[in-house]
Amino acid sequence: MKPPKSRARPWGLHLMRVTLFAVIIVLIHSQHAQRQADRQYQGSPSINLANVQSIFPRAASISKKALANGGHEVLDADGDVLGLVLQTSPKSDHLIGFSGPTNTLIGFSLDNQIVGLDIVSSGDTREHVEQIRLDERFLNSFVGKSWEQAQILSDIDAVSGATLTSLAIQESILLRFSGGRTSLRFPDPLQINEARRLFEAADSVEQDPAHHALWHVKDGAGTKIGSVLCTSPAADNLIGYQGPTETWIGFQPSGIVSGIVLGRSYDNAQYVNYVRDDKYFLSLFDGLSLQELAELDPVEAEIDGVSGATMTSMTVTLGMIQAAKEFRVSSKAASSAQSLAVNWGLSDLGTAMVVIAGIAIALTRLRVPRYLRLAFQLLLIGYLGLINGDLISQAMIVGWAQNGVPWRNAGGLALLTLAAFLVPITTKRNVYCTHLCPHGAAQQLLKRRVRWQLALPRWLSSFLKMVPALLLAWCVVVAIVSLPMSLVDIEPFNAWVFRVAGWASITIAIIGLVASLFVPMAYCRYGCPTGLTLGFLRLSARSGQWSHRDGFAVALAVLAVILWVVT
Ligand code: SF4
Repeated sequence: MKPPKSRARPWGLHLMRVTLFAVIIVLIHSQHAQRQADRQYQGSPSINLANVQSIFPRAASISKKALANGGHEVLDADGDVLGLVLQTSPKSDHLIGFSGPTNTLIGFSLDNQIVGLDIVSSGDTREHVEQIRLDERFLNSFVGKSWEQAQILSDIDAVSGATLTSLAIQESILLRFSGGRTSLRFPDPLQINEARRLFEAADSVEQDPAHHALWHVKDGAGTKIGSVLCTSPAADNLIGYQGPTETWIGFQPSGIVSGIVLGRSYDNAQYVNYVRDDKYFLSLFDGLSLQELAELDPVEAEIDGVSGATMTSMTVTLGMIQAAKEFRVSSKAASSAQSLAVNWGLSDLGTAMVVIAGIAIALTRLRVPRYLRLAFQLLLIGYLGLINGDLISQAMIVGWAQNGVPWRNAGGLALLTLAAFLVPITTKRNVYCTHLCPHGAAQQLLKRRVRWQLALPRWLSSFLKMVPALLLAWCVVVAIVSLPMSLVDIEPFNAWVFRVAGWASITIAIIGLVASLFVPMAYCRYGCPTGLTLGFLRLSARSGQWSHRDGFAVALAVLAVILWVVT
């Protein structure tokens, strides 16, 4: 009599495996988020003089005190100001390329022109960043642009082979500029006594985080009673009789101008005082909306200026118009930089189609003729691997766990990853390894291509099978402790983006592929931590049985918790 079939329910242990995986991902994310929060709290990372000198060769020091928008003055050996530098971090730290954000240093000349950029640090792969550094065109596209021109610069071609990193850098710069530039002529922030000249009940002022020329005014109860838009730095280059004048425009919460006050000025003091005292001139703008102020034509509106101080008063008028215009541009740039527009290109759509085809073949068990199977493998190798470079790696998984999934810029890769994890968890198919991984497809093509095959002794096979587990443990340690180690160096996948690949990846790729000629799927079996992860999460007939992999996963989760607590 046959023994009854086992009725072991796989779900309990299967859920435990998925939960262990999720716990490790959450710990990696949480640890990274805490470090990011600490950095945000500490403000911008300190600026290295060597980076500044790559933009300003004569730079001898950087001002300690940050300007209103976080920038710092660059000084030469005599203490003269050469320009201004600012970083995209921490404001743009949420914008990630392939696996992390990039902090870019931007240098401005005194006349508001970008004179150079330098990549200070990056969470992206070293090779991608190097590719951008070597590309003379990409970063130089910003050089010569003013703050206002740069914040709407969107038609820059990404660096080939480092598309995601390029896009993230570009978005970071746009977002950094969306706050508005800082004036070197009127660097002091708005004071409460100055705001009271427009709003008597003002008790506190708060700079708008996205538009640094805008200040929100609150009363003693913390209620917003209006806003003040400073015309500096928008109007810094408008010279009246002998210099620029800063004007503060008061807006009611409804967005209507409620008054203007002249602030600090480099113009002739007597003429400035004439304008300050001319109540009729100062009331001419009351009742205008920001839009109306930006579109104001002084001639059409018959604004003649103040008698005896015509140049000064007309410059004040033009300055307010200029500030309103810049504020509109800045608002538009901020909203477009933060919009959730999806940048899916042709390559993303192509990857999506390959993913759908791979899932269809894997799940429906279509009887695909041999020649079509071969064509699909070649498609994976040629298109998904060599052209798109869409491969799932530990470097990518850790980067995404830390910083979030860049689904807007890397939609195809995000979909591929979603399929790679969701399909084995919910079905019994490890669709990525069997039907979507270019490196797996290459090994399948090489399988048994030579007559002489190597039979590994059992002890050696058992020993080598520990390699993926050890690499996985290393990934968890690097991710949670934030060790400055590049995880792309322990896998072969970066070699597929051969234009930027490092020697470590290329060497692992070549050794793995050559080995697979003599030992079928050698790298998959004895080297791949990603395949180990996907195999561990796959629902199978033996999901209800405890295995040594479960013991390893529990130990890994415990290690992750300990590292999370102690670091
Ligand atoms: S085991 Fe690794 S290399 Fe092999 S198919 Fe899976 S992910 Fe690709």
